[in-house]
Amino acid sequence: RPQEQFALETSEISKHFGAVKAVDELSISIPRKGMTSIVGPNGSGKSTLINLLSGTLPLDGGLVIVNGVGLQVVKAHETPAYGITRTFQEVRLFDQITVWDNILVVLTNRRVFPALMERSKQSHRDKARSILESVGMWEKRDSLAMELSYGQRKLLEIGRALALDVNIYLFDEPFAGLFPQMLEIIKDIMKRVRDEGRTVIFVSHNMDIVRELSDHLIVLDSGRLLAEGDVEDVLTREEVIEAYLGT
Ligand code: ADP
Ligand code: MG
Repeated sequence: RPQEQFALETSEISKHFGAVKAVDELSISIPRKGMTSIVGPNGSGKSTLINLLSGTLPLDGGLVIVNGVGLQVVKAHETPAYGITRTFQEVRLFDQITVWDNILVVLTNRRVFPALMERSKQSHRDKARSILESVGMWEKRDSLAMELSYGQRKLLEIGRALALDVNIYLFDEPFAGLFPQMLEIIKDIMKRVRDEGRTVIFVSHNMDIVRELSDHLIVLDSGRLLAEGDVEDVLTREEVIEAYLGT
């Protein structure tokens, strides 16, 4: 089958929480190549969109289209099979086990075991090492996840996503609250993933990084699409400038 131009599309997807239309009949198309960023004011539905694309939350309506195949139900445990994984705005790790074991849990597709490391195959151990080196966390491999700094936790969570070796990565606010040095490290990781030909989608409030990294931009406002397209083009549109100056 020929490769679809779009890695992910949505057709009028919605998610309501009571009276709040967190995502409201949203239709977007995310190109396979390059990076796409999702921006918008707090509460505009960015995380909810990531939750719907990754199956973390069920759709109230509409379709998510992965590689050209429309899905009405996206199940989180099945998304790796579709080639999708994600990170969370609030980092989720196994706090009581080591950095190394946090990666091995993903590679071996197991529930948490103490000292997983001891029993893992050499191939898994080699892969875990290369992932930890690639996110700059090799030195920390024997620390418990709970002992890590905020930035290190972000790096480890990204490492866990990379351990899944999929084609579409969704990163929810990977840059939030980080020091400049850490921003550079995470930018480099994301560029590397992109250069491997994978689709990278991230939520950010940092417009300098959005401009620098992304090719395609999606702007949300109150759960609806305010604008979508080439980054520089979208950022010069009147309605986008107004929305940003207005907040
Ligand atoms: P963003 O990530 O852009 O800041 P969210 O997607 O987190 O926005 O939230 C969009 C809207 O949906 C907000 O009004 C938020 O309060 C609401 N919301 C998000 N998740 C829930 C939830 N689990 N229960 C109730 N309301 C929610
Ligand atoms: Mg959010």
